[in-house]
Parts: sequence; structure tokens; C-alpha cells
Amino acid sequence: HADTALYRAKSEGRDTYRFYEHEMGQEARARRIMEHELRHAVSRREFHLVYQPQKKLDTGDLIGYEALLRWRHPERGNISPGVFIPVAEESGAIVPIGEWVLQTACSAAAGWKDDLMIAVNVSAVQLHSVNFPQTVHRVLLETGLSPHRLEIEITETALVRDMHRALTTLRQLKALGIKVAMDDFGTGYSSLSNLRAFPFDKIKIDGSFIRQVDTNEQAATIVKAVLGIGRGLGLPVLAEGVETSGELSFLASEFCQIGQGYYLGRPSPIEDVLREFETEEQKRSDANAA
Ligand code: C2E
Ligand code: MG
Ligand code: MG
Ligand code: MG
Repeated sequence: HADTALYRAKSEGRDTYRFYEHEMGQEARARRIMEHELRHAVSRREFHLVYQPQKKLDTGDLIGYEALLRWRHPERGNISPGVFIPVAEESGAIVPIGEWVLQTACSAAAGWKDDLMIAVNVSAVQLHSVNFPQTVHRVLLETGLSPHRLEIEITETALVRDMHRALTTLRQLKALGIKVAMDDFGTGYSSLSNLRAFPFDKIKIDGSFIRQVDTNEQAATIVKAVLGIGRGLGLPVLAEGVETSGELSFLASEFCQIGQGYYLGRPSPIEDVLREFETEEQKRSDANAA
């Protein structure tokens, strides 16, 4: 990246070189500032989680929620995880941040009724950090959440770094009784061999494949193939990013088991989730009284 800019700068003369140097300096500085801010964001209470429902497509029943991290920056407002997570990963700040996510999500889910699941995203750096399985174990004990209600979502980039170590860690995690889902299936590097090499419990097809699955023949073919792989391997498939009723009915007619997306429910703060539970409870008791 730096080399390219330098090359361009040289070919364009001295002043341009200074210009690029200045611009790159700015970018690097902004990144250092963000790294610094991320180190303090947990203790400054700038993070919160939102929860997005995951539903069974045949009955519409709620299975659980995925916890998604939000950063409310004191000056710059909400910053998207797509922007700050890569920075937190590179600086290592994702390890304490991820632990906060795990703790907060498990503690919330421990208070929910029934057997609702909680899905938590775990990044590569976190998965490979020292004692990660021990951390998960401790959080489960501290929050009282049953292990079978926790599912961690891992993208393929987390696995390819060090396959051997990733496998050891995943086995330790599974030994705790928790579930492991492959996130963003199809977008990574060598999805199929990863599926074979690692003990996943679920496949999450990336939302980009669900877009227009009901109207685009290519999209439909790919999704049907993934559903076939899931069936063959005995793994449930979750479709991410379901945005329309057309996409939903296509997926249901192809026996995709689970869905998640704006059409089924937006990510919402814990207060809204709890209010929803109360409304459901009220409806049930009204129905019983009638
Ligand atoms: P992901 O785990 O694949 O999460 C799904 C993303 O799709 C979320 O974006 C969600 O808000 C968005 N989404 C849900 N339904 C729809 C839909 O119908 N249409 C569209 N277009 N998008 C939908 P979000 O919250 O911005 O998170 C982006 C990514 O950041 C996540 O992708 C995940 O990789 C990462 N992330 C989020 N929270 C955490 C976290 O706590 N830890 C780590 N390590 N990564 C996280
Ligand atoms: Mg995810
Ligand atoms: Mg995903
Ligand atoms: Mg993603």
C-alpha cells in the first residue's frame, strides 16, 4: 500500500510526494487514535450490544438471538463494527472487548426464559488468544448460562491462520458443551475444506447469497447447493440477511431450517427484547384467561 503511494508520488514529482506522505500520516494517526480509544472504550462504557432474532422457518418460532456489538463514540457517534473491529483485532484490543461481549451476552441470556440460544461472534485473534476456552468456561460459571445455550460464530479467516491450533481450541470449546457455527459461509477462503476439517454445528450462509434468491436463478442454485451440503453433513443451515417475504418463502420451500435478517427482526437493544418477552407473556396469560 505504502509502496504504491510512493511509486505514484515519485512519478508525479516532489510536491505530490509530500502530499501523499501527509495523507498517509493522517490516516496512520487516525488509526492510532482509534486504537487508543478502543483500549478505554470498555471501561468508559461506550459499548452496548444489540440482539437480532434467529427464527425457525417452518414454524416461525424464535430460537434465540445473535449479539452484535455497537460502539457509541463520545464525539463521533455510532461507529460500525465493520470499521472498528478490524482495528481492534490488529491492536489486540479485541481480546478484552470480546470478553466483555461474551460476559454481557451470556449474562443477558441467563435471565431469559426457556431455552433460547445466544450467538456470540468470536474473531480470529480472540480464538487464538491464550486461555480462550478457559475464559468461556469461567464466563459460563459466572453467569450461570447452560453451555448448550451458547453458540460462538466463527468466520473462516479465524481458522486458516493456524489450522492445527484452531482445531485444538475448537475441540476444547466443544468439550464445554457449547455450539460452534461457521459464519459468512461461502465468502471466505476454502469454505468446503474448512467445513470438513472442523467440528461445526451449524452453517450460516452469508447474506450476499440470499439477496434475490427468489428471483435470481444463479443465487437460487448456489443456496440450494449449500442446503444440500448441510443436509448431507447433518448440519442445520441458517440463512443470514433475509430481507423480503419472497426470500423467506423460497428458503422455507427449500427446507432451510433457520433464518435471520431485517424481515424477521432487526437487531435491537436489550430493553426492547425484554419488552417483547413481556408482551408475549401477557398475550399468553390473556389467552389462558379467555
Ligand atoms: P455478522 O456476524 O455476519 O453479522 C451479520 C451482520 O448483518 C450484522 O451487521 C447485522 O446487523 C447485519 N444484518 C442483519 N440482518 C440483515 C439484513 O437483513 N440485511 C443486511 N443487509 N444486513 C443485515 P453488523 O452488526 O454491522 O456487524 C457486522 C460484522 O461485525 C458481523 O458480521 C461480525 O462479523 C462483526 N461483529 C459484530 N459484533 C461483533 C462482536 O461482538 N465481536 C466480533 N468479533 N465481531 C463482531
Ligand atoms: Mg455473526
Ligand atoms: Mg455473518
Ligand atoms: Mg460478517
